[in-house]
Amino acid sequence: MKRDFPAYFGASHPLAEVAERHCDAPPNTLVGGVACGTCWELAIRDDERVAVEYGLPREVDPDPDYVDEIAVDLACSGERVELTPVEFRAAVMRLRARRMSPVQIARRLHSTYDRVKAIRDEPTFAGRLVAAAA
Ligand SMILES: [Zn+2]
Repeated sequence: MKRDFPAYFGASHPLAEVAERHCDAPPNTLVGGVACGTCWELAIRDDERVAVEYGLPREVDPDPDYVDEIAVDLACSGERVELTPVEFRAAVMRLRARRMSPVQIARRLHSTYDRVKAIRDEPTFAGRLVAAAA
């Protein structure tokens, strides 16, 4: 019997990073390409436990402006990390503050010169750069 798991369990799931961190299962056993079923369950149960203990709302709308500083740290140290557009911008600003060139930044972030340049050319970039360096 072929089992199709819904796309709901994939890299865009709010707990995908947590589940992935738990998991060292072989790639062909990963649900949604992220983690095995056991690790997904662990992540979901832990999240639920914390929500109950602290009386948190069950549904949280992701904040599009939220920056995962750990993800940005990892990306800035050269690790391949999936960044949101806001996080990518934060990583570019941080590396620019270290006086890295757009080409160096693109290599470090496993991205392209054009993508880095597009952020550098944003009208608000200079102001944000000052804020990031502060
Ligand atoms: Zn696992």
